[in-house]
Amino acid sequence: MSVQPEDLFRNIVSHCKEYGFIYPSSEIYDGLSAVYDYGPYGVELKNNIKDYWWQAMVRMHENIVGIDAAIFMHPRTWKASGHVDAFNDPLVDNKDSKKRYRADQLIEEAIEKIQAKVDKEVDKAAKRFGDQFDEAMFRQTNPRVLEYQQKADETEQRLATCMSANDMEGLGRLIADLDIADPVSGSRNWTEVRQFNLMFSTQMGNIAGEEGKLYLRPETAQGIFVNFLNVQKTTRQKIPFGIAQIGKAFRNEIVARQFIFRMREFEQMEMQFFVRPGTEMDFYRYWKEQRMQWHLALGTPPGKLRFKDHDNLAHYANAAVDIQFEFPFGFRELEGIHSRTDFDLSSHQELSGRKLQYFDPELNENYIPYVVETSIGCDRMFLAMMSHAYTEETVPDAEGQDAIRTVLKLPPPLAPVKCAILPLVKNKEDLTAKARGIFDQLKAHFPCQYDEKDAIGRRYRRQDAIGTPYCVTVDFQTLDDGTVTLRDRDTLRQDRLPVAEVENRVKSLTNMALLLGRAG
Ligand code: ATP
Repeated sequence: MSVQPEDLFRNIVSHCKEYGFIYPSSEIYDGLSAVYDYGPYGVELKNNIKDYWWQAMVRMHENIVGIDAAIFMHPRTWKASGHVDAFNDPLVDNKDSKKRYRADQLIEEAIEKIQAKVDKEVDKAAKRFGDQFDEAMFRQTNPRVLEYQQKADETEQRLATCMSANDMEGLGRLIADLDIADPVSGSRNWTEVRQFNLMFSTQMGNIAGEEGKLYLRPETAQGIFVNFLNVQKTTRQKIPFGIAQIGKAFRNEIVARQFIFRMREFEQMEMQFFVRPGTEMDFYRYWKEQRMQWHLALGTPPGKLRFKDHDNLAHYANAAVDIQFEFPFGFRELEGIHSRTDFDLSSHQELSGRKLQYFDPELNENYIPYVVETSIGCDRMFLAMMSHAYTEETVPDAEGQDAIRTVLKLPPPLAPVKCAILPLVKNKEDLTAKARGIFDQLKAHFPCQYDEKDAIGRRYRRQDAIGTPYCVTVDFQTLDDGTVTLRDRDTLRQDRLPVAEVENRVKSLTNMALLLGRAG
């Protein structure tokens, strides 16, 4: 069944709420913009995503160790990292609608529109010429396509130049030249573009004024940098080695929309890999491939993932690429891989006055290591998983009629509940007692659910909707020969097997090791 992308996204958002994955924060007070709470199934799925990431980093790499640093850090941390001076987004207000936008995003959307015109011309021509169509040739020679393409490329270039030079006036000129209108009101009455710092601040206890001003960390990475030598010394790691961390980050995003894609409070999974200067490009390439493999191991189709090099590099980077995922609203950044040079450690060394050097026994010299980082938003990963797993499909119901089922085809190791134990009917004491016994036996091994309410078909649908990969059904034959059926969520096949085999079968089908083995 094919669903329009806008409908698909809307359906996913309401499915998340209806089935206890994600609720708007403080909903009884009408919610808090771009802040969300994870419900009972949401927290399980999110924990499993974190577990998959953590195991892939820390357990599968002998030279990566984990930490859990505090959210609050000494305020000078953020001066050294560049966040106080440069963690800004260009903001522009529309004077008529009073709506606030990120200037760079307005321009990017305008570029996407121009690009869409190119694609439309190509599609039209493909239809017209049929099998004879040579797309590459058409793109190189068709005057209209060339004109649009040139405009898109030039605009992209101008945007990149303005962003790297912090040229707010230039962005304002681009908005005017592209004749961009407010998407809500259609008005072109814009304010000047100005910088807006994205860090949230708060005040420390009894220290008044600037001295006591603390920031909620906008990224987890700095907790790793300031602990670099502590970790290296206490674990006796030798370069190259990495430090991994999962934790909350906070950004006062100007435009927060698209559900959990852009939140003001979110979670990051970051790993900083410390390397000998001059070797960073080798590790950059290595981590690019490793991280793509981690995504592909989940069974995500390769066409839904792509690399996108950064057009304008951040102040600390000498190479950077995003892994983009095709969300229902298009390809967007899911993860970043950045070669951060020695920028962070050098700045901390300078501002703190403490040496942050590593003694390399092989070279017999001290140096500040270079860093390659991988940084992924846990919530974005959650949304990517949901977008890929959410399926509406037509299946035969109990009477053999077509029925629509909504199923979350999550990779079994990530599913919130691995196995549901269902007595065929509710009011047969010997069936329910047997089913409860199986549930009690299995629950210590993996997350299980016992459910006896409603007809069996409805109970299967409920488990499909939360992505439970296996359902064990206890029926009258169970009482005779000690076998149950095991229903597969995706194929709908039901296998009969002895009760004693269920534990091992489900364990082997839902084991995280399956993913870790494929992740490389
Ligand atoms: P964007 O360009 O989308 O604002 P970014 O380039 O600022 O993202 P990074 O600073 O590289 O993002 O952060 C690393 C990862 O953290 C991103 O790839 C994304 O998955 C996640 N992330 C960043 N900002 C948010 C947010 N506001 N809400 C949810 N996840 C986020």
